[in-house]
Amino acid sequence: MIRCLDCNSTLTKEETACFTCGATVKLVSAQMVFGERFASFLKFAFLGSGVLTIASLFFDATPSFAKCLTTTVVLLFVRSSAEQMLERKKG
Ligand SMILES: [Zn+2]
Repeated sequence: MIRCLDCNSTLTKEETACFTCGATVKLVSAQMVFGERFASFLKFAFLGSGVLTIASLFFDATPSFAKCLTTTVVLLFVRSSAEQMLERKKG
């Protein structure tokens, strides 16, 4: 049985939008949950890498600025392509 995430009313499998509140029914597959977790991991990795990049300008203890910057840029690309993939899956 599927329940609407917004108003908690019962929905049939065929319904793509909630009859009561009109919210779109999200069919959450295991693959999509994994994808979303991966995307949020990438987000944190990207933010951490960004912070490290800035920190590397001021501190010697961090990896070199070029290394940090490369990692940040790579993570940015991976993140945006992962998000695009997720968007496509959602349709
Ligand atoms: Zn609803």
